[in-house]
Amino acid sequence: MRTHLFFATAPSRLIQGSIMRICIVGAGFSGATIARYLAENGIASLVIDERNHLAGNCHTERDPETGVMVHKYGPHIFHTGIERVWEFINRHGVMMPYVNRVKANVANKVYSLPVNLHTINQFFGKALSPKEARAFVESKARMDIVDPQTFEDQALRFVGNDLYEAFFKGYTRKQWGCEPSELPASILKRLPLRFNYDDNYFNHPYQGMPRDGYTAIIADILNHPGIDVRLGVRHEDLAEDFAHTFYSGPLDRYFNYDLGRLGYRTLDFVPERAEGDYQGAAVINYPDESVPFTRISEHKHFAPWEAASFEKTIVFREYSRLCGPDDIPYYPIRMVAETKLLEQYEARAAQEPNITFIGRLGTYQYLDMDVTIDQAMDVAEAWLAKAKVASL
Ligand code: UDP
Repeated sequence: MRTHLFFATAPSRLIQGSIMRICIVGAGFSGATIARYLAENGIASLVIDERNHLAGNCHTERDPETGVMVHKYGPHIFHTGIERVWEFINRHGVMMPYVNRVKANVANKVYSLPVNLHTINQFFGKALSPKEARAFVESKARMDIVDPQTFEDQALRFVGNDLYEAFFKGYTRKQWGCEPSELPASILKRLPLRFNYDDNYFNHPYQGMPRDGYTAIIADILNHPGIDVRLGVRHEDLAEDFAHTFYSGPLDRYFNYDLGRLGYRTLDFVPERAEGDYQGAAVINYPDESVPFTRISEHKHFAPWEAASFEKTIVFREYSRLCGPDDIPYYPIRMVAETKLLEQYEARAAQEPNITFIGRLGTYQYLDMDVTIDQAMDVAEAWLAKAKVASL
């Protein structure tokens, strides 16, 4: 690991005779993006991560038995509409063309996702045109729900009860461990509803997979003389003082959970290796509640440019459960009932002048990778501008 210090050259008065070093907790996209921005602007940082690898939950590594690049913490597909984020990610790695096409296995029949004209025609046994399908779905939708606030209301309002029960209700109860009526509508708004045969899971103009995996991208972002990285180090165990800390760990953990625990979901991945092609697609969802897992991911299909070169394959069955004290948090639940606790922690966070909370866990938000990077860029720019003013 590199141990030198980086002597800042700009903004010159910021350092005024001393070396200003920043601590960044977490070597995922948030931390790496901030470290890079600061380094390119003359501010040195130490990035730590308690795990022994870079990239947080985006970490990828080759499975020694099959050779397949595995998304260790579940499927990550890069998609964005933000120009500067796409430019940034392409600056730090080679992005290969990839379109996420997900299937759903419902009552032993396979359907196209996200819900599109093919799904509607398959599910109802029809051959409707786009216009007919729109009218048909509207006839089933609960048009009396004017301003849907919950996941359930959003689903009933836009697709009606039949499609909701088949594709969303069971999956969501398994994934989140609560009733869809307790979850915000924003979770369902992630998914498109289409009245054509477009089965691209995302609407964004840019989509791709890193040729060498996400960990290589993060390593490249962090590869700068102004950035030191220490892995296997917990923030709680750091003895040094820093001018400022950017913290991407869980917000409630920073405060020793002293107001109570915010709810997160964790995931268990059960791997299985086989010969050849296991399911013929990268992701198949299993919305039925009689099936205990939510989806099966077959990792070689995340890399279509090399998938044919592997004789063997590896799949993960994905199980969701409430995150316990020793588990890795994945999804902030953000139940309506948790809002008050979150606000109390946010108020505490606002009183910490030398800490900025970042990322999915630090801000307790369900962020995609591109939004994480974009927010990190905003945070780094705003912090540097403020630091420059303070040093004048
Ligand atoms: N969802 C669902 N059925 C599906 C896929 C998704 O009900 O077949 C719901 C579920 O609540 C899920 C949310 O939509 O948590 C967002 O899905 P997405 O595929 O974006 O989840 P991620 O890949 O981030 O886990």
